[in-house]
Order: sequence, then structure tokens, then C-alpha cells
Amino acid sequence: MKKIILATHNKDKIREVGEIFPDCEVIGVDSQAEETETTFSGNALIKARAVAKCHQGAWVMADDSGLSVDALNGEPGVRSARYAGEDGNVPANNALLLKNLQGVEDRRAHFACAIALITPDGSEKVFEGRCYGKVALAPSGKGGFGYDPLFIPDGYEKSFGELTPEEKNAISHRGRALASLKETLAKEFSER
Ligand code: IMP
Repeated sequence: MKKIILATHNKDKIREVGEIFPDCEVIGVDSQAEETETTFSGNALIKARAVAKCHQGAWVMADDSGLSVDALNGEPGVRSARYAGEDGNVPANNALLLKNLQGVEDRRAHFACAIALITPDGSEKVFEGRCYGKVALAPSGKGGFGYDPLFIPDGYEKSFGELTPEEKNAISHRGRALASLKETLAKEFSER
């Protein structure tokens, strides 16, 4: 059985990858790496490389994601999780985003997700997915996490927080990055 090492402790991400690759054993580990890059792909690679160092010969994956708002020059971007200062303080992050967009008409934004893959022979690939939309004037919906209640994807009247997980996954940045990773990995697995 092939082993995939995922640079995360997030149970939802481990489960999601396990569902995509049911014939593989998926193990989550903490990369302990500091995310010092200015791009999602750069930070995903930092985490994947840190984990690959300790798990040579394995399939290693790491992801990084966030929300970029046009009118805020791409902020919160790679600082999405700690926009208001404290890591993972969702109410504070969402409140700061609404405050910084007060009176701003152009509310266009996109979520981006980069997934870095390091193969057993050490080659590196990055898969990216985006979802475009806008920041709502007020939160709505209780589903999802993070900025979901504030993000309305293009073509929808509802926020990510009001969509079912299936509806969100079908159009989300993470869903799209995972779909492109899945395609490549299925091919690689069949060739090895
Ligand atoms: P990470 O890549 O899991 O570390 O996510 C970084 C941060 O980006 C999260 O803490 C959220 O604030 C935000 N984020 C990333 N993806 C999503 C999403 O699908 N919905 C809402 N917020 C997200």
C-alpha cells in the first residue's frame, strides 16, 4: 500500500485526501516549518520540503490557502489565518476584513489554494486552484470555516457558509487544486 504523508494535523484534510486515494495510507504530520514566503505555493513547498526531509522515499503533500481581496492589494493573502494578529481567531479576522472594506464598492476577491507534492524520487510539483467571487456586506450561513460566511462565489447569491460541503467542494479553490493533483497522481501511481 502506498503511503502519503500530509503536512497537516487537520483531520478534515487527512480525511479528504484519504477519500480521494482510498488505496493509500494517509498519515498527517506537523511540518513545524515557519511560513516565510509571500506566495501560497512558496509556503506549501516550505512545509512539504520540511516533512520530506524526515520521510524520504514517501509521497509528501502540503497545502496553503487564503483569501485575496482586490481592493486590499491581495490582503489578507498568506496572512489569512492571522489577519487580525492572533493565529486562527476567525471572528477577529472576519471583523477586520469587513472593517477594512467599509464603504468600498469593489469587493472582488478570490480564494486560492496551492498543494505541493514531493514524489519519492524528490521531484516537486505544485497544483493550484482558485475560486473567484466577492466579499459580502455582512456574514451569512453557518457552514464551512474561516471567511466562508463572508465570501459569495461568482454565479451564486449565497455565501460559502450557506452552501453544502458538496456544493462548496465542487467549485472551491481547494476542490479545484485537489482535482488537478488527483489527475496527476493517479497517472503517476499507475506508472510506478
Ligand atoms: P490554511 O491554508 O489551512 O492554513 O488556511 C489559511 C486560512 O485561509 C484559514 O485559516 C482561513 O482563514 C482561510 N481559508 C482558506 N481556505 C478557506 C476556505 O475554504 N474557507 C474559508 N476560509 C479559508
